[in-house]
Amino acid sequence: MGYTFTLLLALALLHIARGASVGQDSRIRYDNYSVYKIKYESLGQRNLLRQLAEDRNNFRLWHEAKDELHLMISPYGLPEFQAEVLKANVSAEIFIPNVQELIDVETDENSRASSDDFGWKKYNSLAEIEAWLDDILARYPVITEGFVLGTSYEGRTIRGLKISYKSGNPGVFIESNIHAREWITSATATWLINQFLTSEDPLVRTLAESHDWYIVPVLNVDGFVYTHEKDRMWRKTRQPSEISACVGVDPNRNYDSHWMENGGASSNPCAEDYGGPHAFSEPEIQAMSDFVGSIKEKLNVMLAFHSYSQLLLSPYGHTKEEYPENFDDLMEVAKAYGDAVEAFPYGTVYRYGSAAGILYPASGATNDWAYNEQGIEISYTIEFRDTGRYGFILPPAHIVPNAEEALIGITALLDKCKTLGYLELKYNL
Ligand SMILES: [Zn+2]
Repeated sequence: MGYTFTLLLALALLHIARGASVGQDSRIRYDNYSVYKIKYESLGQRNLLRQLAEDRNNFRLWHEAKDELHLMISPYGLPEFQAEVLKANVSAEIFIPNVQELIDVETDENSRASSDDFGWKKYNSLAEIEAWLDDILARYPVITEGFVLGTSYEGRTIRGLKISYKSGNPGVFIESNIHAREWITSATATWLINQFLTSEDPLVRTLAESHDWYIVPVLNVDGFVYTHEKDRMWRKTRQPSEISACVGVDPNRNYDSHWMENGGASSNPCAEDYGGPHAFSEPEIQAMSDFVGSIKEKLNVMLAFHSYSQLLLSPYGHTKEEYPENFDDLMEVAKAYGDAVEAFPYGTVYRYGSAAGILYPASGATNDWAYNEQGIEISYTIEFRDTGRYGFILPPAHIVPNAEEALIGITALLDKCKTLGYLELKYNL
């Protein structure tokens, strides 16, 4: 018996060492994976910790800011992590003791609500979102119009919805779920669509009817389906690499705008922020570029939805040595969003700044590309709830409050844009 137990234990450890295990329904499990928040002061300390994330089996980067890292750690990686924390002399605080527990609760809530009509008490799958879009298009044939960005690596159609109540409106583009595991983004985008079409609140009516909305609820369709069916924690696209067994590219580092400059993305195909073999290597990002390029005259504002950390990030991401010409305006507009959200009953606090200034260099992202290459002068990455208590696995009970905050924030943002003269038409009617 002693022998059998030892053998089983050895096999179990071997299993953990090889990465997350696979459950009965072939979903990857994260039993006893924990997430730690690590605070550091020097670049040396950061680099020591950042190196851990190179070992994908045991460490996964969840969030990175200039003074803090959030790392997901396998139970097998804990001893090494503890040794590194001592060596780097930094403080580490656990905030998710067992990632699988959060995933289980979420899966449970999703399946309990799945008999309901499409709604925002659960996270919807791509098929459910697309069926709902079809329903919207059929119900509002005059106001709404479907558009297709293009086709993903795995052959899925990337769809969007345009909402326009009248001609001559300034255009707002919303890109959502470019990162697969950030489910709160498509939940929020679809909730906003529903508000723009059905709300009777006069403020929402004014907002909806005085702008043209181009909304892509799920840009990274392959990755999104993969998070629902296989690996809840997947971030990247699903195109295999020619030089590595690791799959996928960080699509938000793949735009052709200062691509890979200043260490703003990784050249390691296994890294979460792998920039790809070349700019626009990902068909989803090429498709986004082609489509936005074809309507850029109609767009005044670009908003890219992400989670988590409650931030508004303006250009530039590739450097903090330079700032955009209208940086003061970009900060005033971001402040309007933050103030409006904070004044809302939930009191949620958003910080803002340039992406490189407030976080770290990140090049080839949507907000920079839209600003630099498409002439869209108001361009942000918006990182939704929370600040790490649940991270990417934000419970469905947060969907509506988060979306309400986005609505109130976007209203204030566009009001400020109008005051500052950013919503003038860039084309002749
Ligand atoms: Zn993201």
